[in-house]
Amino acid sequence: MTKIVIVGAGYAGMAAAAHLDKAGTPFTIVNNHDYHYLTTLLHEAAGGRGPGSNYQVPIKEVLRQDSSELVVDQITGIDRNKKVVVGQSGEYAYDYLIYGLGWVSEYFGIKGLKENSLSITNLDSAVGIREHIENEFKAYVKDGDKRHLRIALGGAGLTGIELMGELLEYLPQLCKSLDIPFSEVDVQCIEAMPTILPMVAPHLRPYVAETLTKKGGKLRTNTKIMEVTPGVVHLDGGETVEAGTIVWTGGVRANPLLTEAGFTVDRRGRGKVNSFLQSADDDHIFIVGDSAWAEDENGKPFPPTAQMAEQMGALAAHNLLAQLNRQPMKSFKPRNWGTLCSLGSEVGVGDAFGVPIKGVTAALAKEGSKAKYLWELGGMRLAGNRTKQMMRI
Ligand code: FAD
Ligand code: NAD
Repeated sequence: MTKIVIVGAGYAGMAAAAHLDKAGTPFTIVNNHDYHYLTTLLHEAAGGRGPGSNYQVPIKEVLRQDSSELVVDQITGIDRNKKVVVGQSGEYAYDYLIYGLGWVSEYFGIKGLKENSLSITNLDSAVGIREHIENEFKAYVKDGDKRHLRIALGGAGLTGIELMGELLEYLPQLCKSLDIPFSEVDVQCIEAMPTILPMVAPHLRPYVAETLTKKGGKLRTNTKIMEVTPGVVHLDGGETVEAGTIVWTGGVRANPLLTEAGFTVDRRGRGKVNSFLQSADDDHIFIVGDSAWAEDENGKPFPPTAQMAEQMGALAAHNLLAQLNRQPMKSFKPRNWGTLCSLGSEVGVGDAFGVPIKGVTAALAKEGSKAKYLWELGGMRLAGNRTKQMMRI
């Protein structure tokens, strides 16, 4: 029997797994947890909108056929000659591999940044940010040192702005519970470029700035982070920001395992694939999601987003089955539904199919996108079971 292994149960891996599961094709999925977490909502977990458990879905709640096997293990390498994926607890032989181990933070070699900042890279780290902030605020109650109440976010892309929106909604409640005046809290998002949110239409950016500023946040543009030492962010021009909480939201790169295994990668460590999503180095390996260096007809790389990851996962599974059945494979031609950026739970900005939206409309669209995703992954059963815990409405 052909051995199919999927590594990573993120958006891409789960979409591939759900596709094979529906087809009744046996496969093994290896992931470092027995649940799938919703990376697109990690800012909510970090900002305290809901407990971490709200953002996870047991993998076996999605994969219901006995033909699929779930293994919980931390993958440490790939041996292409032996055709095995190596984990901490065992080796997994494959004839076909779907690789979807996602992304890690990109630190651009900035001195001290990795060691001295938090990041929002997985569910545990997101929950860790909320706990860290709560501990800092409690420390302020004890010693009155205002640095405990300062939060510096590095990078005003979608992750930085969505996290800021959540924090500005949650921190007034936290302050109330600890009897701290919210006016003492300083949340700043530090961006190297002249504008925030390059992926959002320029005319919507002032709305974002106004919304976050009214809630008490500070947006700093044209300000580059050069170094981070314990509790201190060093900016170009020599200014320093002393902050009890420093979170890096300045960009992503592919999980380093592909580079370590000798795959052909781009400058962000993503593995080169052809239009069918097969690795340029090995056509028995499909690379999907944020780890894939896939390009459109004009040679432009697809962005590392969940909507791309989901479509790649499903197509890789389809193409794998096509290979087994000697059918023609399909090229990756994704749909772009738009980009939605929440600014807390009540308003947002973005576009739906290219039409700019803002305010409550954008927030409602964002909530709707959660139900849409659950429905795509596990049909009405999953959407019915899980939507309530993730949605505000
Ligand atoms: P992931 O979803 O990261 O999944 C990788 C999986 O592999 C995880 O389950 C992980 O636990 C597992 N794993 C990793 N390493 C190992 C290992 N060594 N061994 C075993 N298992 C491992 N995109 C959008 O399109 N829309 C949005 O609204 C959006 N919002 C976002 C909000 C935030 C706060 C962030 C951080 C990102 C957001 N994105 C959004 C981007 C999106 O989350 C990513 O593009 C998407 O998660 C990529 O999917 P993936 O399957 O490649 O990787
Ligand atoms: P990003 O690369 O999009 O943004 C990072 C920001 O950090 C940039 O604006 C960059 O100029 C800034 N930066 C980099 N170095 C800096 C420095 N030294 N000092 C100050 N600022 C610096 O990263 P992201 O926001 O984490 O997004 C990663 C991917 O995930 C993107 O593809 C994004 O579209 C996707 N994403 C989507 C959503 C959404 O759709 N709602 C939310 C989060 C992330």
